[in-house]
Amino acid sequence: MKTDPDTIRNWRPQTQLVRGGTNRSGFKETSEAIIATSGYVYDSAEEAEDRFKGLNDGFTYSRFENPTVDMFERRMALLEGAPLARGTASGMSAVTAALMCQLRAGDHVVAARALFGSCRYIVEDLLPRFGVASTLVDGRDLGAWRAAVRDETKVFFLESPTNPTLEIVDIAGVSEIARAAGARVVVDNVFASPMLQHPLDLGAHVVVYSATKHIDGQGRCLGGVVLGDETFVLDELRPFLRNTGPSLSPFNAWVLLKALETLPLRMAAHCRNAAEIADFLAAQSGVTRVLYPGRTDHPQHALAMRQMSAGGSLIAFEVAGGKAGAFRVANALALIDISNNLGDAKSLVTHPATTTHHRLTEAARAELGITPGLLRLSVGIEDVEDLKEDLARALQANR
Ligand SMILES: *Cc1c(COP(=O)(O)O)cnc(C)c1O
Repeated sequence: MKTDPDTIRNWRPQTQLVRGGTNRSGFKETSEAIIATSGYVYDSAEEAEDRFKGLNDGFTYSRFENPTVDMFERRMALLEGAPLARGTASGMSAVTAALMCQLRAGDHVVAARALFGSCRYIVEDLLPRFGVASTLVDGRDLGAWRAAVRDETKVFFLESPTNPTLEIVDIAGVSEIARAAGARVVVDNVFASPMLQHPLDLGAHVVVYSATKHIDGQGRCLGGVVLGDETFVLDELRPFLRNTGPSLSPFNAWVLLKALETLPLRMAAHCRNAAEIADFLAAQSGVTRVLYPGRTDHPQHALAMRQMSAGGSLIAFEVAGGKAGAFRVANALALIDISNNLGDAKSLVTHPATTTHHRLTEAARAELGITPGLLRLSVGIEDVEDLKEDLARALQANR
């Protein structure tokens, strides 16, 4: 018996993540297949002609569509509650496509200043080369978003929580301003993950992910995804992706598709561990500041809890002794790895000032709160007691 689409939409999320989008081949495999093919064959020239005219269903070329990628996209769309999703080769190709497919020379973009480094490059350096102006604002300040609007403003772009200082942007508030200005809101939802925050429900138009992060969550491959309504995905995003070609490989789509089966379990473990580690760090001498959206001392805790269902997997904390102190702590960690990736099953620590944000000027870093003693911890799903012991030992090395 084949499950009809309405039944699938009514499944609860955990069921959708295990079974949604599954499209078995003629072999009736239990687990989703990797259809590793670039092209497809037709029974006749007439069938090929009809396929290209869109008169029959089926695949034509894997730059356009692929059965394994298609399963991943369908499962992601169910999870996000979005009409449609498109997979891409990386998170950055998702961001680039989501912005460039809808912008043209003369348009204007307003973006939050606290953005992933490469996203800032797209907004500040790349788009202006093609005549798209941009204004960076303090994303926390709704008045700043409102003041930045021009007649030509087409897109608002933001992430929340932000990297690495975990600032929260009021997605509903920003979306209201954008809608009044006739602009679309694109949200990079990587830090919250699709489990904790649903930007479309808060009024955003488009959601993008680096699937490399929590969605794979096991450090195995790159991938990205863009989600939105039919008009955006079919009329604007699809032609851009088809003709520029940042396609998700069937193998990577398969890794990500299977990873979605365990995403709720992993995110629950990430959040449980991170909440406990944040409280633990706050109680340690030698830790001068802890930023975690799930803690009541986070400056925007109330807003974070309004738009996210938990505090997430990331913690920013500052240690005494500036850069030297941060390096001493990172180097003394024995279990937690030094790595700039995040959302991984393995706990990873990075020093933003000298890695992910080293290209910014000292002043730009200061503006974002990226101090020399700041460390970003992506809390994994190991036993939390081992993580605490490792951190306690490392902090001891900085006494
Ligand atoms: C990692 C990341 C990206 C880029 O994703 P890639 O898969 O590395 O290309 C974009 N935005 C945020 C917030 C990220 O953390």
